[in-house]
Amino acid sequence: MELNVCWMYHDIMDLYGDKGNMMVLQKRCEERGISITIDTLSIGDQRDLRAYDLLFLGGGADKEQMMLIDDLLSRRENIREAMEQGTFVLLICGGYQLFGQYYISADNEKIEGLKFFDYYTTTGSNGTRCIGNIAIRCNLDGHEITAVGFENHGGQTCNVATPLGKVISGYGNSFDSGYEGFYNGSVLGTYMHGPLFPKNPEIVDFVIYKSLKKNHPDVQLEDLIQLDDTLEQKAKEAMLKRLQVQ
Ligand code: GLN
Repeated sequence: MELNVCWMYHDIMDLYGDKGNMMVLQKRCEERGISITIDTLSIGDQRDLRAYDLLFLGGGADKEQMMLIDDLLSRRENIREAMEQGTFVLLICGGYQLFGQYYISADNEKIEGLKFFDYYTTTGSNGTRCIGNIAIRCNLDGHEITAVGFENHGGQTCNVATPLGKVISGYGNSFDSGYEGFYNGSVLGTYMHGPLFPKNPEIVDFVIYKSLKKNHPDVQLEDLIQLDDTLEQKAKEAMLKRLQVQ
């Protein structure tokens, strides 16, 4: 089996180890004999995003989000078609914000989003930011997962119809929402850096499975060869213990 990934704005959007998501994705595919190709995309690069099984966009500072927004908006139709054709999309923090209606930066500048979804992001009052380790409980197509990560965002994301999970420690979409991220079956957006994948092998495997589905509609999550996640699970347990949620 093959997995074709496009890592969008790899040179601009890469905060708190987001790059680690691609490293772990590659490793977990290779260990299973899944042939993975990770292409990168920078501002101005010609790419047909419909050709990919997975699009990945990491987080970034306000300045970086502003830097790439025109290029991202120019790809709107191509991204829409890719999603329509079954491409899975993984978005972290700043990338997650840009798929919604808009993002109001810390300097009160409005950045128009791709407007694929109804959620929108304002900024924390008086420059306040949601910072720290976070743990959430999520249900991914029936699979119950406790995930951990690190968040650092001024953005307060509201009007999320289908959150990724319920916050058990930390903030998530905003200071007071109690929910984290967005998941609609084909797009997963989250504030969790850390990076997300090394700390949460269940989520990596879920994303691999959902992405493989584009060309292998019958594939099941259980079809993925089981890997030894002892260390990853120990690390997660240590964090949950530190957060006093276990
Ligand atoms: N600049 C955005 C914010 O502060 C996103 C930050 C991030 O990706 N960590 O909300």
